[in-house]
Amino acid sequence: MVFFPHMAHKDGLRPGDSFAPEEWNYHESTELPPNSSLGEVFKFAHGLTKERNERRFPTPLHRTSHLVDGGGEVLDALRVENKEILRKVGAKVAMRIFNVLQGLGERDTALIDAVIEKYYFYSADTPEGGCCYCGEKPCVCGLDKPKKELVRADMPQEVREKLASWTFTDWQRYFDELYGANNRARGLTLTADRLTSEIIEANTASLRMSTAISPEHVDAQRKALLLELADSFAWLAGLYNVLGTSFENAPKLDDEFIAIYGNGCPNCKKFPCVCGAFGYVADRKQK
Ligand SMILES: [Zn+2]
Ligand SMILES: [Zn+2]
Repeated sequence: MVFFPHMAHKDGLRPGDSFAPEEWNYHESTELPPNSSLGEVFKFAHGLTKERNERRFPTPLHRTSHLVDGGGEVLDALRVENKEILRKVGAKVAMRIFNVLQGLGERDTALIDAVIEKYYFYSADTPEGGCCYCGEKPCVCGLDKPKKELVRADMPQEVREKLASWTFTDWQRYFDELYGANNRARGLTLTADRLTSEIIEANTASLRMSTAISPEHVDAQRKALLLELADSFAWLAGLYNVLGTSFENAPKLDDEFIAIYGNGCPNCKKFPCVCGAFGYVADRKQK
């Protein structure tokens, strides 16, 4: 039997298995309503892109490479200082983060769980969350993260449910409370630079996962990849926040994502998307 590292899954998914999305009303929710939770956005993205991604981006490594391509577009937009393009590219990066999770066969809660683990320090003193290194909100870490031993409390079910209902905008607000002042002081370039670093780290974890020699290594790299996707998401929210002088006047990822994907694929105008790997137009040119 051949070992396919990228397909080894904690629930036993193997090549040729289909990740069962029936309970997600696949192909039914063809519109993304405002105020959708992150999990609902993921389900919508899943319905929109599943067929195209299985055809064009069959492995997680294809998908993290596609995400890296988005990171390159972030740097291109930064170079010409075009905030409108940065916003648009940011929404594409969000979609590609979801595409990686989809390729891993992850559930709609996977990104939220990883984001909570990395960025929501929950304790009796910090029920509204805090930085997982210094425990504070706003974060008081300097460039070197403090070596403080923080003790987490078990998160009550109602808090977990509240976080599961959060929209992109709710998370963007949370990250602004946590890091907004620090990131604005560091500036747009350093924030975008950090986002692209995290995206590259996700690709590294994906590459390691695809070349792992044992199921244990696959699991470790899968876990690392999930946490890098959480980092990418956090810095994407950070990038949107520094596009404004405050959270209030910053563009919102919710608005941009809905504007681009809310009624189907922006390229082929279909739901589900029938594009090629690099959009409808490029695909037609190849024929
Ligand atoms: Zn901190
Ligand atoms: Zn399309």
